[in-house]
Amino acid sequence: MEASLTARDRVGIQDFVLLDNYTSESAFLDNLRKRSHENLIYTYIGTLLVSVNPYKELDIYSKKQMDTYMGVNFFELPPHIYALADNVFRTMQSEYNNHFILISGESGAGKTEASKKILQFYAVSCPSTKLLNNVRDRLLLSNPVLEAFGNAKTLKNDNSSRFGKYMDIQFDHQGGAVGGHILSYLLEKSRVVHQNHGERNFHIFYQLVEGGEEDLLRWLGLERNCQHYRYLVQVKKNLLTQTIYSCLLQGDCAKVSSINDKSDWKMVRKALSVIEFSESDIENLFAIIASVLHLGNVKFEADVRGYASLNNNQEMHWVLSPFSVDHAVYARDALAKAIYGRTFNWLVNKINESLANKDSSRKTVIGLLDIYGFEVFNVNSFEQFCINYCNEKLQQLFIQLTLKSEQEEYEMEGIEWEPVPYFNNKIICDLVEEKHRGIIALLDEECLRPGEATDLTLLEKMEEEIGGHPHFVTHKLADKKTRKTLERGDFRLLHYAGEVTYCVVGFLDKNNDLLYRNGKEVISFNFYCKKQVVTQFKSSLVGLTEILMSKEPWYVRCIKPNEAKQPGRFDDVLVRHQVKYLGLMEHLRVRRAGFAYRRKYDIFLQRYKPLCPDTWPNWRGTAAEGVQRLIKHLGYKPDEYKMGRTKIFIRHPRTLFATEDAFQI
Ligand code: ATP
Ligand code: MG
Repeated sequence: MEASLTARDRVGIQDFVLLDNYTSESAFLDNLRKRSHENLIYTYIGTLLVSVNPYKELDIYSKKQMDTYMGVNFFELPPHIYALADNVFRTMQSEYNNHFILISGESGAGKTEASKKILQFYAVSCPSTKLLNNVRDRLLLSNPVLEAFGNAKTLKNDNSSRFGKYMDIQFDHQGGAVGGHILSYLLEKSRVVHQNHGERNFHIFYQLVEGGEEDLLRWLGLERNCQHYRYLVQVKKNLLTQTIYSCLLQGDCAKVSSINDKSDWKMVRKALSVIEFSESDIENLFAIIASVLHLGNVKFEADVRGYASLNNNQEMHWVLSPFSVDHAVYARDALAKAIYGRTFNWLVNKINESLANKDSSRKTVIGLLDIYGFEVFNVNSFEQFCINYCNEKLQQLFIQLTLKSEQEEYEMEGIEWEPVPYFNNKIICDLVEEKHRGIIALLDEECLRPGEATDLTLLEKMEEEIGGHPHFVTHKLADKKTRKTLERGDFRLLHYAGEVTYCVVGFLDKNNDLLYRNGKEVISFNFYCKKQVVTQFKSSLVGLTEILMSKEPWYVRCIKPNEAKQPGRFDDVLVRHQVKYLGLMEHLRVRRAGFAYRRKYDIFLQRYKPLCPDTWPNWRGTAAEGVQRLIKHLGYKPDEYKMGRTKIFIRHPRTLFATEDAFQI
């Protein structure tokens, strides 16, 4: 007894549901800290998995570990991402329904790593045939390709995903992975033309320049030197005038110790072939990537009339309309962003073609959602606004699928329980997306008044329309104390996860995402009647919500223990904040107050009736009576379960696992 107490003291408990003082945030934090110091990075809250980034390689992802977790009941082994993956898979198999795993957390918390681990687990654990192995390899190798084109080094993460990703894995009757489909969200295109100090452009540019074969580079007219390309080095912003920037290159970020561009290049090339990109597709792809680099090096000078002209025609033989130099630079960058954005979409489509399952028989699906977490920087712009709006939507989904639906279900089923208070962020979602008066509607409206509207008229309009809203404040509307913390061009939203101050400058421009007419013609894009960026994003989020609502949810919540990306450091303040906005305490309270499992009587009876002679092989009474008879025979104690109107509720998963075990014997 004493020995086990000591162990518990040292390594904490592996399921927060068992925490004595379960309403205390400090106790929660203590447990997380203890465990992460022991390299026990995973902890459950019921079936939700909390993961703390160890910032070092742990020996817990071997094939042997995978085998250990395959087909074993969830709570029988220490918490692991493999246990979750296995449990989702087996539930899908036994109930023949669709699932999704939502992986959330802030930048650098370990979302992408977690999603890769899940995919790897399925790749190893699913049945294998030659055909299936082919699909498996493509599923696995879609990752390095998408990461090359969609990830970049940022201050927070050397491999930060700069797009949101939802991936469906499709399984056949036998549980073989037979196909997949990827949806991507809001790629951060602005990174193509500008990166903050200490950050990089998308990995693929460096991979091509550093790793590309001699012949290829010669054909593309590229030099093996990142410093040569304006888009790959940073320029001191306020000193920038286009004619002198070349003297001011900083270029201190092309090399990153944790990244090997050369070997990554080889990996990407191999992956592209496996995903069945033809040689000509691959050539075209890199010709486009190279063209973006060349475009970035196009320089302009003002001629005698003040119009921009090309100061050399090495990169481009091209005559522009009578633009000022500033306009010309803007048009050039807009073109580069558009080309890259389009290429990324093309890439995702090609991957999807390759992952598509041609067989039309019914499949079940596990979706993996690896999407940007809530973001707060010193200066927050349109991109953060979109990302944080996305997080509000996902929180709303979590509330609807878990917190709210759970409570409503108890009520509907007539089960007694103690309600758990939670903050419903619908009020913030409405503030952003309501028709006519929401921030998105106002923003789009201003974008339709070219020449008249500016970022500041947008701010004024927001002040007029939503000025009294409790989650919105600006310099003008603020009380004396708050005003000191706001600039005139700022607006602040009180998100569910905390306050974020947005600088309105650039909102209209980024939302319009305009290409100058010449740009459009040069690359023959049809941009007319195009929807505004934020509205497109809103509809894709509505689409995503619909996809997710029809599936059973599972959650992985990733936590970043420190900002320094160092192993062994656990910053209490930082973690406490994440525990709060990831909704972990609420989740725990709901889990504690409620029942871990519930099943419709007929499904429960169907599965377990062989365990009781009264119900096997045929039960003639109602399903509820059958279940009653069954659990009496199994010896369930009164506090272990409740009978609802249509379902049986089981308080702890262990009860169910014992039943499962009896079934196996
Ligand atoms: P972003 O939102 O910026 O894309 P993210 O949440 O996807 O961030 P990851 O890229 O998954 O973060 O993780 C960041 C880094 O943390 C990884 O590159 C890796 O070095 C480390 N890391 C994350 N999870 C693990 C893990 N389970 N084991 C070891 N290292 C990890
Ligand atoms: Mg990521």
